[in-house]
Amino acid sequence: MYKDVVDFIRKTYNRDDFIALHEPYFDNREKELTAQCIDSTFVSSVGKFVTEFEEKIADFCKVKRAVACVNGTNALHLGLKLAGVKEGDKVITQPLTFIATANAIRYCNAEPVFVDVDKDTLGLSPEKLEDYLKKHNDIKAVVPMHTFGHPCRIDEIKQVCDKYNVKLVEDCAESLGSLYKGTHTGNWAEGSAISFNGNKIITTGGGGMLLFNDEKLADYAKHLTTQAKIPHRWEFRHSETGYNYRMPNINAALGLAQFEKLDKFLEKKRELAKKYEAFFGDSFVKEPKNAHSNYWLQAIMLENRAQRDEFLKYTNDNNVMTRPCWCLMNELEMFKNCECGDLSNAKWIEERLVNIPSGVKL
Ligand SMILES: *Cc1c(COP(=O)(O)O)cnc(C)c1O
Repeated sequence: MYKDVVDFIRKTYNRDDFIALHEPYFDNREKELTAQCIDSTFVSSVGKFVTEFEEKIADFCKVKRAVACVNGTNALHLGLKLAGVKEGDKVITQPLTFIATANAIRYCNAEPVFVDVDKDTLGLSPEKLEDYLKKHNDIKAVVPMHTFGHPCRIDEIKQVCDKYNVKLVEDCAESLGSLYKGTHTGNWAEGSAISFNGNKIITTGGGGMLLFNDEKLADYAKHLTTQAKIPHRWEFRHSETGYNYRMPNINAALGLAQFEKLDKFLEKKRELAKKYEAFFGDSFVKEPKNAHSNYWLQAIMLENRAQRDEFLKYTNDNNVMTRPCWCLMNELEMFKNCECGDLSNAKWIEERLVNIPSGVKL
């Protein structure tokens, strides 16, 4: 059975050599725009490509404003800070996520609290969230994550957050191009973070962005990413402790070239998902109800942990890269004493889920 899988993936990618989980795709356009950027000498934190890239992404996601950052992790950190998260606060997130979500909470000297996910969305469960908030009135903010690009039930999560008066920050690092009930992810929270790391659907090398529907908040975010410097022709005056979080122009040049291909990447991802679904049937992880996923990382569910581990060994031994999902946050040394709810769905998924090659070429 595992041999059939390897053969199928090799046939799909039409390759006999190593198949990576996800590799970026570039053509001449990336070289053109980065060369233009170098010729202009504006390769660093000032330049027209950054503003243009922000406008393009904001337009695409249908948000009012976007503020570019050095990476997705610090975009999240800033999003939490803007939501008012301070030392000693408690912030709910899901245990099934990439480490950056939990780290960003700690950067605010706040404590993550882990609440379970839904099995169908792989993202934070609005029911379990409400259950937790009913019993605990000391939660400052909630950070759901759209796992592998599949949107979680973000409108219900938003309703619960409003009802209990807690702030919402969306971790959209993986979900650029995904919609929930026809609206792009990143539109529910006051601030939402995207990542343009090398393995994401489009890349700037390293990079991230915050999305806002509030102009004032966006202005403030930009101010904080540029060392909180008060604009002046020659004076260096800073209004508070800011950050050096602004995306360099050279990364934005790469991002603009990638952005031109985003619609095509999304189409190809969906075609690949169709092929995988036809082959794997019910084991394939499909986009949830009411959602249009970007299918950034494709996934399947195995029967149990033993089968999962056998599958991982066979495929990786045969040069087809596959990967289990992350070790649950609450099981890591630095988060093992954090508060959590019942995490049975996250545990169930962690034991069974495997990501399979998801890269696309045009
Ligand atoms: C990639 C990712 C991030 C962070 O992005 P970087 O740009 O690598 O800092 C945050 N959260 C999730 C869920 C991610 O997958």
